[in-house]
Amino acid sequence: MTDQNTFKLKFWGVRGSIPCPGPDTVKYGGNTTCFEITCGEKRIIIDAGTGIRLLGKHILINEGNVLDADLFFTHTHMDHIAGLPFFVPIYNPKNNLRLFAGHLAPPHDLDGIIDTMLMKDPLFPVPSKLIEQACTFSDFSCGETFEPGGGVVIKTGKLNHPNGACGYRIEYAGKVISICTDTEHFDDGLDQSVLSLSRDADVMVYDAAYTDEEYPNFKGWGHSTWQEAIKVAEEANVKKTFLFHHDPSHDDERMDEIGALAAAARPGTEPAVEGTEITL
Ligand SMILES: [Zn+2]
Ligand SMILES: [Zn+2]
Repeated sequence: MTDQNTFKLKFWGVRGSIPCPGPDTVKYGGNTTCFEITCGEKRIIIDAGTGIRLLGKHILINEGNVLDADLFFTHTHMDHIAGLPFFVPIYNPKNNLRLFAGHLAPPHDLDGIIDTMLMKDPLFPVPSKLIEQACTFSDFSCGETFEPGGGVVIKTGKLNHPNGACGYRIEYAGKVISICTDTEHFDDGLDQSVLSLSRDADVMVYDAAYTDEEYPNFKGWGHSTWQEAIKVAEEANVKKTFLFHHDPSHDDERMDEIGALAAAARPGTEPAVEGTEITL
């Protein structure tokens, strides 16, 4: 599939809250959150927002609809799970998709969210038993570390978000990607969990749904700003920062403005763009 030691990150969906396709968002994209991370032969997917449908289409067309992967959820708000029922590979019983979530507490668990809520009458017409052969569901306690093999280490840490969310630090071949969405900064200093996930990262993806100017209107909603992304990147010694979870009200023109301001404030900072891939 890929060369040994290849470490890649692809953005299949970069938008937060709700998809917003249309002529005003063609440049940055309108699909909600989904990342694909390739570590040599291992494939890790983070989140199943509407962007995951495009990943499924890619796997169907280019890889014969064959999939073996781990899917880690940051959390289960709608913009992070809504694409799962439309991810074609889960309906191939020969596939193997291991799904994990670290933010849920009893009485909730991941199986219950997908099986008895999302893919269930009256919300969804196709019975979830059709995905049971391809999918397994596991809950973990955010803060745990995974070593899924192939030299990949996945560290997890709590994010500050309503109903909880889990951030990821993926280490492979001497490089680091940190994923910190959805998260809200604190008034009284930087979030130690975010700093530790992002320490010396080659790439950090950070929740920048708002600007500092907009933020007071949305305090407590669980999101952060591009200005806070830069503070974290500076303190954690991050090389490259991708602003992420773009607010649906930020059209391409607005995103261009934000991108220019952020890059001027700290070179190596840019808005994530749907469909782009970087190799570390
Ligand atoms: Zn979100
Ligand atoms: Zn959320």
